[in-house]
Formats: sequence, structure tokens, C-alpha cells
Amino acid sequence: METTLIILKPDAVQRGLVGRILTRFEEKGLQVVGMKLTQIPRATAEKHYAPHAGKPFYDGLLRFMTSSPVVVLAVQGVGAIAIARNLMGATFGSKAAPGTIRGDFGVSNAFNLIHGSDSPEAAAKELALFFAPGELVEWPRLIEGWVYDLSSGTRE
Ligand code: UDP
Ligand code: MG
Repeated sequence: METTLIILKPDAVQRGLVGRILTRFEEKGLQVVGMKLTQIPRATAEKHYAPHAGKPFYDGLLRFMTSSPVVVLAVQGVGAIAIARNLMGATFGSKAAPGTIRGDFGVSNAFNLIHGSDSPEAAAKELALFFAPGELVEWPRLIEGWVYDLSSGTRE
């Protein structure tokens, strides 16, 4: 099982798309184990986007991400990191495939609605940055046996 950090960016919140985007994850069968509305402090945004420091879009990205509230999600499932990235689509809204979140809801290359961790290492770091340990809720999902085939004792 993996848990990945998803951010519904300020454009998603301002455009009233939180519910529709969250629905994509729920419909897919991923389980939400953390969720909050928050305005990202500058220092947190700097840590989160440290790998992009110095790139031409970095300053604008920090301004955008701290400009207005976001919804931060922790989402769990087998292979959740890659599944979430596929649901999100390509980075640029102008290029993202129809059927993906970025492909369906946006045209901008900067305001692209959603962030998702891109590796297990990034997920661990980003989850720790946005959620205190007690804020993640491990809850038994009663439909688990219909989301996955559990007959072999693992999630297939
Ligand atoms: N970004 C941008 N201009 C670019 C590349 C990226 O504004 O030319 C922003 C965009 O919001 C993107 C974020 O920087 O989501 C992080 O970029 P990354 O390449 O990590 O894309 P992602 O992992 O979000 O698909
Ligand atoms: Mg990235």
C-alpha cells in the first residue's frame, strides 16, 4: 500500500472544482486518509518545491501556491502514487489528455489544478510536510473487498 500527497491548488479551490476532482479519486477506488483546507505558508511552499528552486517558473509557482487556500489530501491504495499521477495527467493543461483531471478542467500550463507526489521518497517527505502524524486517519473501509479481490489474502 502507498499513500501519496495530493494538493488541490488555489485555482481548483477558487474555481469550485474541489468536489469534482475529489470524486475522481473516490470513484477510482483510492481511499482518502487525510484532508484539510489550508493556505500554504511561504516557508512550506519553499520546502515543498525545493527541487524546482532556481527554475524560471519557481517564483511564480510559489506566489501562485501561497496566494489562496488549497485542499491537501493524503490518498491511499496499492500503487497510489502512479495511479494518482495518471489520473492527474501531463503537467501542462494545454497538453494533458482528455479524461485526466488536468486534461478535462484546465488549459493553463502554470495553473494546472493539482499536485501529486512523483515517487515514494517525495510522498514521504511531502506527507510529513503537510500532515502532522495524528492528522492521518487509518480507517477500515467497509467496501474494501469490492474495491480489491482480497481472496488470496492480499489486495489484487
Ligand atoms: N510549472 C510551471 N511552468 C513550467 C513547469 C511547471 O508553472 O514550465 C508549475 C506547474 O504548476 C507544475 C509545477 O510547476 O505543476 C511543478 O512542476 P513539475 O514539473 O514538477 O510538474 P508536476 O509534477 O506538477 O506535473
Ligand atoms: Mg513534480
